[in-house]
Amino acid sequence: GIGEPWILSRIRTIPDFPKPGIKFRDITTLLNDARGFRKAVDELVQPYVGVAIDKVAGIEARGFIVGGAVAHQLTSGFVPMRKKGKLPHATIGQSYDLEYGTDTLEIHEDAIAHGDLVLLVDDLLATGGTADAAVELIEKAGGKVVAACFVIDLPDLGGAQRLRDRGVDVISLCQYH
Ligand code: IMP
Repeated sequence: GIGEPWILSRIRTIPDFPKPGIKFRDITTLLNDARGFRKAVDELVQPYVGVAIDKVAGIEARGFIVGGAVAHQLTSGFVPMRKKGKLPHATIGQSYDLEYGTDTLEIHEDAIAHGDLVLLVDDLLATGGTADAAVELIEKAGGKVVAACFVIDLPDLGGAQRLRDRGVDVISLCQYH
């Protein structure tokens, strides 16, 4: 991968998870390391210190952990973007294609106000299908996506390009090819 050794040494790679041939990039080892977790969050928020971010939107489930810390540090509200059927109040949703079938992300219909500046956060960007649906949903709610931030980008899978093509800035702390 390309990135600073401090973060690469704290991310664990699990071969053949969840399927044969997949190299799963596991950030639980980064989260488990007190200084590593803080440094990762510090680097994610650094471009937005002093920017009036209204909401940080985190994608279930690892985006909740990183996004919650980012929201706290920026003094922003936090919006959980959840898989279908998990949120208790009225929701709006956006479906997206998976390798087999489809999935749906939902937010509460009142979670984002018209004109809110929103920072999208997840652990990892691959094909961009998930993040693209998240951007679509935030915009459907009337929010403006300031940027999409990830701990890890897999640029060869095209997600960063896909988001940039629709005008969304993409930030990542490290990349694996
Ligand atoms: P995409 O929709 O293809 O960009 O896949 C990104 C989504 O799948 C994110 O929500 C990630 O959390 C998850 N994901 C895919 N591959 C990995 C991995 O290697 N480690 C952790 N999460 C992954």
